[in-house]
Amino acid sequence: MSTRPEETLRRIRARVDGTVQGVGYRPFVYRLADELGIAGWVLNDERGVLVEAEGPPDAVAAFVARLSADAPPLAEVRAVQAEAVDVVGAPGFEIVASAHGGAATAPVTPDSATCADCLAELADPADRRYRYPFLNCTNCGPRFTIVQGIPYDRPLTTMSGFAMCEACRAEYEDPLDRRFHAQPNACPVCGPQVQLLERTGEPVEGAGDDPLRAAAQDLLGGAILAVKGLGGYHLACRADSEQAVAALRSRKHREDRPFALLVADVAAARRLVELDAVEEALLASRARPIVLARRRPDADVAASIAPGAPDLGLMLPYTPMHHLLATDTGVPLVFTSGNLSDEPIAFDDDDARQRLHRIADRFLVHDRPIATRTDDSVVRVVRERPLLLRRSRGYVPTSLDLPIAATQHLLGVGAEQKNAFCVAKGDRAWPSHHIGDLKNYETLQSLEKGIEHFETLFEVTPEIVVYDLHPDYLSTRYALGRDGVKLITVQHHHAHLAATLAEHGETGPAVGAIFDGTGYGHDGTVWGGEILVGGLDKVARSGRLRPIRLPGGERAIAEPWRMACAWLTDMQVALPPAFDDIPQPRWNMVARMSLQGTGSPFTSSMGRLFDAVSAICGVRLEATYEGQAAVEFEAVADRAAADPYPLEFEHRGQTVALDPRPMIRAVLDDIAAGVPVPTISARFHAGLARATADVLVIVAERDDLQLAVLSGGVFQNRLLLELTLDALRAAGLRVLVPERLSPNDGQIAFGQVAVAAARLANA
Ligand code: ZN
Ligand code: ZN
Ligand code: FE
Repeated sequence: MSTRPEETLRRIRARVDGTVQGVGYRPFVYRLADELGIAGWVLNDERGVLVEAEGPPDAVAAFVARLSADAPPLAEVRAVQAEAVDVVGAPGFEIVASAHGGAATAPVTPDSATCADCLAELADPADRRYRYPFLNCTNCGPRFTIVQGIPYDRPLTTMSGFAMCEACRAEYEDPLDRRFHAQPNACPVCGPQVQLLERTGEPVEGAGDDPLRAAAQDLLGGAILAVKGLGGYHLACRADSEQAVAALRSRKHREDRPFALLVADVAAARRLVELDAVEEALLASRARPIVLARRRPDADVAASIAPGAPDLGLMLPYTPMHHLLATDTGVPLVFTSGNLSDEPIAFDDDDARQRLHRIADRFLVHDRPIATRTDDSVVRVVRERPLLLRRSRGYVPTSLDLPIAATQHLLGVGAEQKNAFCVAKGDRAWPSHHIGDLKNYETLQSLEKGIEHFETLFEVTPEIVVYDLHPDYLSTRYALGRDGVKLITVQHHHAHLAATLAEHGETGPAVGAIFDGTGYGHDGTVWGGEILVGGLDKVARSGRLRPIRLPGGERAIAEPWRMACAWLTDMQVALPPAFDDIPQPRWNMVARMSLQGTGSPFTSSMGRLFDAVSAICGVRLEATYEGQAAVEFEAVADRAAADPYPLEFEHRGQTVALDPRPMIRAVLDDIAAGVPVPTISARFHAGLARATADVLVIVAERDDLQLAVLSGGVFQNRLLLELTLDALRAAGLRVLVPERLSPNDGQIAFGQVAVAAARLANA
């Protein structure tokens, strides 16, 4: 084709937008040009990638088409815009070094699981990276967790202390190599190393040659190890040893939450849980979240992994080190966050040693620092769609589009629990990693540092800070403490609704059922069982759960029996047998509080209704984490039994109140009649789902709406979500459910910026 006359040649300049830097995109273009006999160049600039391509028209057309169609695995091409330019006639294709050394807006991508090419090297005794726990390439490896600043270049990552050896440097500089400009590129000669340490910090004797094999032996022998990973420390032990798991549970203190497991591959996962196609795809995806899936009856894991839970949380290895640990041990491993209950996970080495040395027998560590604490993400599948319960490692810092662009730079500071923040400019928003519950200095510090980090990474200088109406949230105080910004408040449940609309590219209007534990309402009471109508800019409250006292305020969250007491007192029902463990004077005191209202605000919280019914059934009277009573109540449900309990509506002008008292009465009758709790739970879920769907349909018809939204932490309950979804779809409504963000308060910050952007556009 090179013999063609010059006048039949064509030259174009193409602008490629999206995540195309730091993902092997330029070498890909280079190879593509080589294959198609194209001349020209490619470079990185502030906006993305710029290409000029010259050759026969057919070849140029094929080249342009493949710029998006064949992009490398971690690239995300948003748009390719090509325009004709004058033919130059110069031969050859080159990668032009960028003048500024890498673009300032070069998007930082999420950490990505080890690719197949790297895994093959890891397992190949002849390869120079055989069993090297930190191998990676442009198609995989650490990203967000090692980035300290921009441009995304080795000196501004936690790899800066490791100078590449000659062999690694040659790969790094070769446009045809898989490791061309792979910033974390490393090998056993020049890169990070692992070490196995005693809890005192001394190296374990004799473990020096192969600390990973020694660690695997420890694990097989029943030891508990603290393992430094990608975004933080895990605590690990073999999952099939009741003794090891029980020891871990007791050393972690008051910890009732299920432990997540690490298994070597999909086949190993299948021995523990039932996996459908969607669950399997998520498990093996590059993000490698913890996937909650139905436990097999014959799953060979200790009973105390997830007491009473019908699901197990599984993940596949996502770093070479995890791959080696999983294959060397050959058994499922508990891989739970490295912390005492309620604390954020440890990621700093000194801090980890201090906090974990009473839990772990030994420490498996390495010398690559972690820049940002990043928890494992957690997902479950509902009606074949992912429902993220925690969006963090593997997903962050992917941006989401805003349906209404922000005319100014925005920061949403989120809520208090399961905090995540969000920065935004133009039509893009960057929801942060999971920060955690903002109840202590350490998490507040993580929030402040995280915000600073995101402002740098994405060049957002917030002009407007958006915060929750709740006056006492630490995120609210942070917002009020920021100088030189304008402030906007967004009501909590409006933020839930808006986040769900916006992630689906919708602006509303819609009718939404927003059910959660706690959110500050416009009237100063605690909301949480809300029927809202509206869109991004504003909403109206069209209905709610009938309010009841929250006896003792916050204490009622830790003691679900208090909510039972509030409802039963309100209904003038005597104390049923489930409460034998609660001394009569305590019960009487709480009953008095709920009658008189002392220190007991009104709440329409749906989470608290679940607490009440769970306690009435004797499932859980006291909780070690918010929502535990509801989680366990869902877990016991017998899905086959589904004769729904009645729930009444009370129309008051334009609003509807859901009155659960007939349902509670039916629960009491069933208990008295000896109906098993699994049946009661199923009937409760079915009744609530039906009532929710009914009320949404009534409001949708009244206001002529076709779109419904379900969100809020209560909809992490799969049974409730599935039943409500099915009923709404059967009624002909289109239903939006959070998919890319969590339905819990992890989505609040994104909702806050979506609302603020819409309001600015209307102003
Ligand atoms: Zn790779
Ligand atoms: Zn090297
Ligand atoms: Fe909430």
